[in-house]
Amino acid sequence: MITSCTKGSFSEEENASLSSSTPTLNHRSRAAQEVLQQQLTDDPTLASRMEAIEQFTSPYQQDLPAFKLLKNGNIEIPVVVNVVYNNEAENIFLSQIKSQIDILNADYSGTNKDISQVPSYFVPVKAGDVHVRFKLDTVIRVLSKKTSFGTNDGVKKIAGGGITPTDPETKLNMWTCNLSNGILGYAQFPGGKPATDGVVILYNAFGITNLFPYNLGRTATHEVGHWLNLRHIWGDAQFGDDFVGDTPLHTGANFGCPASGARSSCSGSPVMMTMNYMDYTDHLCMYMFSAGQKSRMNATFVAGGPRNSFAQP
Ligand SMILES: [Zn+2]
Repeated sequence: MITSCTKGSFSEEENASLSSSTPTLNHRSRAAQEVLQQQLTDDPTLASRMEAIEQFTSPYQQDLPAFKLLKNGNIEIPVVVNVVYNNEAENIFLSQIKSQIDILNADYSGTNKDISQVPSYFVPVKAGDVHVRFKLDTVIRVLSKKTSFGTNDGVKKIAGGGITPTDPETKLNMWTCNLSNGILGYAQFPGGKPATDGVVILYNAFGITNLFPYNLGRTATHEVGHWLNLRHIWGDAQFGDDFVGDTPLHTGANFGCPASGARSSCSGSPVMMTMNYMDYTDHLCMYMFSAGQKSRMNATFVAGGPRNSFAQP
């Protein structure tokens, strides 16, 4: 456990305790990190691949050369939505799917309506346009005998009652399904295997739904952030490191809708960026990426980066 206010190293973060508690009924998923821990155990070469990605991307965090390499100034990511359903409620409407694509495009272009709520002290470090766009490519619907899925990637395998990804090197695969244990979604970080690459979102947290306070499609905004190499803003440890220079240290995950100005208990009591998409706050109360997070995401697309296959013309 990192106990000082110094941001830790990669290895410290990977070994960080996952013991901090989450409320039972209204928690967001901490599954991305748990899935990563399992994958690191199962695949002895994953840690070194992720370390190499860290070495490669970190120089890009000081300025923004990455997006200059993108076609027309933006990366456009084709999205395959794999709807794995066991009943009609889980076989979500196309309109719900489209609402999710719209939310991703708003949040990743910084044109979300609530961006105006960013407090003045964080305006200098807000991302603005991340220059990533999402285009619905295909919707694949699969009737499954499985009534719910866990985080073991069963939904990504036919043998697990799900479906394998389509062209995962060039298309972002999203799966919607029923997830057990109150999990809203989980993601695979860059460096993982193509066969399991993408994000999984609870069917009624995908797009605009009635699952208040997780009803505004920002579970996917958060999980796609992981898919583009972002860590939780608290670094998955007390005062942990998210490898981003302009995000303040957080005591830990924040939930609900903290009042603006909530401070970390770290020495110096920095104001936490609880409205960041990579915290665990309610969808209504998260509405920004930081400029450093934008650089970190953009760095995945440059030549040699782990998402460069998505940047090919
Ligand atoms: Zn997460």
